[in-house]
Amino acid sequence: MWQFETLRIDEVLQNSAPRHQVVVSDANGEIVTQSGPEHLRSPMITTTQPIYDAGRVVGAITINHSLAELTNSSAIVLGATSIVAFVTFFFLRTFPLSLLARATNQAKFLASHDPLTNLPNRALFNEWLVHSLYDMDRQQGALAVLCLDLDHFKEVNDVHGHAAGDMLLRQATDRMMACVDSGDMLARLGGDEFAIIQKLVDVTSAPSALAECVLASLSEPYALETGEVVVGASVGISIRNAGDKLDGQTMLRQADMALYRAKEEGRGAFRYFENDMNEALIARKRIEANLRTAITQNELELHYQPQIDLSTNTIKGVEALLRWNQKDDGMIPPDAFVPLAEECGLIVPLGDWVIGEACRQAKEWPDLTFAVNVSPAQFRQGDLVATVKNALEREGIDPSRLEIEITEGVLLSHTDETIAVLAGLQAMGVKIAMDDFGTGYSSLSYLRRFPFDKIKIDKSFTMDLGLCADADNIIEAVIKLGASMGMTSNAEGVETVEQANLLRNQGCKEVQGFLFSKPLPSKSISELLTDWQWQKYQNVESSFSKQERPC
Ligand code: C2E
Ligand code: CA
Ligand code: CA
Repeated sequence: MWQFETLRIDEVLQNSAPRHQVVVSDANGEIVTQSGPEHLRSPMITTTQPIYDAGRVVGAITINHSLAELTNSSAIVLGATSIVAFVTFFFLRTFPLSLLARATNQAKFLASHDPLTNLPNRALFNEWLVHSLYDMDRQQGALAVLCLDLDHFKEVNDVHGHAAGDMLLRQATDRMMACVDSGDMLARLGGDEFAIIQKLVDVTSAPSALAECVLASLSEPYALETGEVVVGASVGISIRNAGDKLDGQTMLRQADMALYRAKEEGRGAFRYFENDMNEALIARKRIEANLRTAITQNELELHYQPQIDLSTNTIKGVEALLRWNQKDDGMIPPDAFVPLAEECGLIVPLGDWVIGEACRQAKEWPDLTFAVNVSPAQFRQGDLVATVKNALEREGIDPSRLEIEITEGVLLSHTDETIAVLAGLQAMGVKIAMDDFGTGYSSLSYLRRFPFDKIKIDKSFTMDLGLCADADNIIEAVIKLGASMGMTSNAEGVETVEQANLLRNQGCKEVQGFLFSKPLPSKSISELLTDWQWQKYQNVESSFSKQERPC
């Protein structure tokens, strides 16, 4: 790597400054280093400055400029050289040569390496990639770029602290280094993102073998001071065969797309870039462009799912669920566009619209509470407390009727700031519910971080109720635990009367699910409210078949 740096600098000196020569000599007049051509054409300007160390002359630096064929560009080079020389003189007066060389190397190293892992950083990686592609072109060789990131690294940082996260990154680096060939380069691009340039000299250096080695070694447990943790990784690969014209940035983008696909497909695996990924990206870009105009084109609407109070058997509230009625593609469910909106930042205006619209609707149903889903990005960008406050005030809604539902993702990063926002909302009187409880990485540990008002048990547990003793026990334990911490409970995804009755017996306060109603437009909910009879559901032959399933 350093050889490459040196070569490049020499090339630059030779190509761009053929009319000047820099000579550094020691106290005996012996030349220590010299750059530029051996002989310069006359006429010449020569400048010599002594180099001091603690008042003692330890050497001299001489700069010779040839004034022959002086053109505009050489005048610029001359000017730049003078500045470099001036700065050099300044330092050389105070530092001896060896110290100067060490400091220069150190500065160079720091500017091009990541201080935590000592790996090359993104800038050096990019430079090396351009150089390697150039080399491969000359040798008619092939090259692979592998992008990889650690799965669930953020959770480790969050649960075990940043020092433990740093330790894990250093251990992960050592393990990856053991897989990488000496001619290849491993770099840290930032956070938990790494990349490898692999020269494909023969079949044994196949990228899949490298990816497999990296994935296997990274998935071994890590011994941290705070305990042992396991994290996996995902890898995306882009290949440039001899004769291809891909540039480095395109290869990185391709490897990134393949990485994204590997993660989408369940993590812990590697994927090669394929053209359909490009098509998928284009499709995503199209959805993103349409989504930008969705609010102004009135294409968004809220559907509402009733929430049933199990002690009174009445509808006590509704959960607002976003729908996108796209003019060409029809009704698009939130799972198909909310994650995309989160990635491109559009979730903030979208989320603001949801809060405003839900408050507007709440005026029509004065006896109901209403729950709104909020994404992690809405906590980081925008001012959630102000948005909620303004919407409530504008519509004259009592804050205690609003419930903000958050998933674990909200608490994964920027925890202190996030908790401050949650506390601000709660201080206003707004209720906070933890959504999809039990599906995340460490749901229980999050209960200690914030005094939630409600726990929403994920529908995957409800589905197994009565069929699987484990699910029954888990639900009962969660309800009891929540109650002991002053949190009420809601079970989602109730599809049968048996599930509702079991939940009531277990002490669950509230349910929602297809048994009572799918999410419906506001007009249909108004009809349901006037026509509500709990008895109707008592003898429902569930259309959702009860299946025996393995626990
Ligand atoms: P969620 O918050 O967990 O919402 C519940 C999802 O479960 C809804 O899907 C609902 O239709 C579905 N569901 C309700 N009862 C049953 C049932 O008995 N059986 C089954 N199988 N499913 C049931 P939906 O409306 O497609 O929403 C999916 C997710 O999209 C939501 O999951 C939520 O995470 C997200 N989402 C929806 N609206 C918004 C929003 O305004 N903002 C944000 N950030 N996310 C939203
Ligand atoms: Ca929800
Ligand atoms: Ca949920």
